[in-house]
Amino acid sequence: MGMNRPTFLRRLCLNSLAVVMQRTVKLTLPSDEVLVKTIKFYNEVCNEVLKVAFEARTHSKSRVHRLTYRGIRQKYPSLQSSMVQCLRDQACDMLKREKLERLPQKKPYSSIRYNQRIFKPYLQKGIVSLSTIEGRVKIAVSIPRCYEQYIDWQVKSATLSYDVRLQKLRLHLVVKKETPQKLERNSVLGVDSGILNHAVLSNNVFFASNHIRAVKGSYQFLRQKLQALGTRSAKRLLRKRSGREKRFQADVNHRIAKLVVAQPFNVIALEKLEVKKVKKNGKRFNRKLGNWAWRQLQRHVEYKAEALGKTVVYVNPAYTSKTCSRCGQIGTRKGLVFKCKHCGFQLNADLNAARNIALRGKLLLEQASVNEPNAPLQHASQPKAEATCKPPLSRGGS
Ligand SMILES: [Zn+2]
Repeated sequence: MGMNRPTFLRRLCLNSLAVVMQRTVKLTLPSDEVLVKTIKFYNEVCNEVLKVAFEARTHSKSRVHRLTYRGIRQKYPSLQSSMVQCLRDQACDMLKREKLERLPQKKPYSSIRYNQRIFKPYLQKGIVSLSTIEGRVKIAVSIPRCYEQYIDWQVKSATLSYDVRLQKLRLHLVVKKETPQKLERNSVLGVDSGILNHAVLSNNVFFASNHIRAVKGSYQFLRQKLQALGTRSAKRLLRKRSGREKRFQADVNHRIAKLVVAQPFNVIALEKLEVKKVKKNGKRFNRKLGNWAWRQLQRHVEYKAEALGKTVVYVNPAYTSKTCSRCGQIGTRKGLVFKCKHCGFQLNADLNAARNIALRGKLLLEQASVNEPNAPLQHASQPKAEATCKPPLSRGGS
């Protein structure tokens, strides 16, 4: 199954909330002849690359690399390879911006790019290290007071330019930091599963299951073919395939669980599925009971939440998909949409169910704190206050 991990993970992360703050820190460097020469030289070479790429009608970094890298390195041995890469990337971005309609040119002292290999910031020490055409230099910088708050942020990129009129070297750093997640006390996240979504969270995060279903479908197709064959080698292959399918699902669950527990909530509410499969449960619920993948996801969430010191509560799952998460009355579910006759509320049915699960989790917490203010929660898995030597309970899973 040729789905590479990063793409898939990116798809999973799309809806999650890693909010990154970004700022630009503008510094002035003390005058330095070598740096000024480096800027001028870089821009001259960049113009050469721009010309070659423009004539070849391309702004693809890999194509421009093949066209220019070796020649540039031979012609200008004093330019470090990372610097050649930086100017190539910058040239490609300029051509892309112009849509190859016109040949852009760099001015002699316009800003040049530094990537992480040729630029190292030691802002807390007030030093930056930069590559030049004469090797690496360390330069003392004074950080203006207004930028002091950013000295422990991660530096994402750096550009250096020279202001000829004022005779000043300017170093601009783009710095980033992940926003701190604000946790309310006893904020509850509800988690539900649906048909189109492997998991739906009450804070509007969806983990679509189309990829999972596609992969499983292809396994099933193969399984049927192998079963029909019935030969010994087909049976062997069948066993191998079923192991691979299980590992695929476990891997997906592992990654989804990680993203679920990373949400800014300290309590996670799941449906209690430890009941017998009986007809009055309803089709939807029985399907979940039979779905080992979904139960596995619940277990993963539980372990990982525990490791982070978060609490997991299990709620009664009856009518979570038929109850209105706004007014609490019984409504109807048609296909993907939940509709409430009483208050007119409409919502994605899985999201409505996830919100009901969150509401029940909240209720459970409130009841627990009313009955016994200091007692541990029922059904809750909380990290023990004191370390014990006992091995953790094994959870039945074959
Ligand atoms: Zn309603």
